[in-house]
Amino acid sequence: MSQSSIASLWNRYRSVGIVYRIGVAFVLGSLVGLVVGEPATVLKPVGDLFVRLLEMLIVPIVVFTLLMGVRQLSPASLGRVGAQVVGLYALTSAFAVAIGLGVSNLVSPGSRGLEELLAGAEAQSAEAPDAVEVVLNIVPTNPVGAMAEGSVLPTIFFVVVFGLGLTLAWEETDDEQVKRGIEAFFDLADAGAEAMYKVVWGAMEFGVLGVFALMANVFGTAGVDAILPFALLIGTMLFAAVVHIGLVYLGAFVVGVAGRSPAAFLSGARDAMVTALSIRSSSGTLPVTMSDADENLGIEERIYGFTLPLGATINMDGTAMYQGVAAIFAANIVGVNLSLADQFAVVAVAVLASIGTAGVPGSGLIMLTLVLTQLGLPLEIVGLVAGVDPILDRIRTMVNVTGDLAVTTVVATWNDAVDFTADAWNDGVGAAL
Ligand code: ASP
Repeated sequence: MSQSSIASLWNRYRSVGIVYRIGVAFVLGSLVGLVVGEPATVLKPVGDLFVRLLEMLIVPIVVFTLLMGVRQLSPASLGRVGAQVVGLYALTSAFAVAIGLGVSNLVSPGSRGLEELLAGAEAQSAEAPDAVEVVLNIVPTNPVGAMAEGSVLPTIFFVVVFGLGLTLAWEETDDEQVKRGIEAFFDLADAGAEAMYKVVWGAMEFGVLGVFALMANVFGTAGVDAILPFALLIGTMLFAAVVHIGLVYLGAFVVGVAGRSPAAFLSGARDAMVTALSIRSSSGTLPVTMSDADENLGIEERIYGFTLPLGATINMDGTAMYQGVAAIFAANIVGVNLSLADQFAVVAVAVLASIGTAGVPGSGLIMLTLVLTQLGLPLEIVGLVAGVDPILDRIRTMVNVTGDLAVTTVVATWNDAVDFTADAWNDGVGAAL
């Protein structure tokens, strides 16, 4: 093949939107894993490489964009945006558990003879995080250490106070040199954020291969036989996720962002949704989520620079929903009926557990032990569903990042921080969805 035909083939390949290429890789990788089985797991390092590339970007992208955001945000508006976003994050999480419980009550996902499997599963437990510790840990004792460890909440805290310090120093100093230094600091952050977005899209190009490998590995490991007994549970979770996205996010969107197509919002969020489905980590997806907010949805840094890193850490609607679904699944298997009071308790525990859950693969499964303990249900359930968690976790994580973006879009609209001339609102894909 001549060089020019290779180049034109490459250009044709690149002209297809990245989300479609990754989508095809997702399906093909899953099929290859199912057909080839265990040997497909040799591809795992290729998938891991993609996840590492994204993880590499989390801290720099959060620091640069947050610093830029604080430059444009007064302390008073920071407080207002903070209250709006935390309120909506908590409210949508509570809806998510209620929907998870409601759908599962209808379907009874655990009523199909899984009792024998339960007997072979091992009990697992986790400690509830201490609320005082959780709050104290938001303040890092060493900001460089927090960044080095990739701890997002303490990094947010430090960058916000540092940014506010820079803004105040700029306002109060008469020293031109200090003023110029502060401006240079912010300009550097601006340039750094732009550069990081270029790297995100480079990583996503590699993601086509990475996602193929990740999916081949998942299905190569699990196999159809292991998945089939849990088909109803997976189907219930998927259905609850669709109901939640349709009712709560698109509903909140219609109310909060009057006059714009909800399909355009989904179109703008699609790269983040597909990445979350592929890598099972809200934190790992954060660079793509931020890039979607910036480039597709036209949201200003002063909002998303703050709300998205916060959301990736504390807003886990999919995880909260899963606690509801799994609670009913567990109750079905052991043949008990959860009273309304029990189900209310699940909402409270699940929302708190989801806030304390880290945005990394599998953490929602560990949190399930808290809900099961609260209800007095057997902790062996965690061991039972662990095998299919790599599938359930994808659905949870996709809902988690969609929730972060939906709430961010609504709060940004309330604060007059959306440029509706941006791609997603006008490129016609949204209208076509
Ligand atoms: N994997 C999820 C996330 O990163 C958390 C969970 O396990 O539910 O958002």
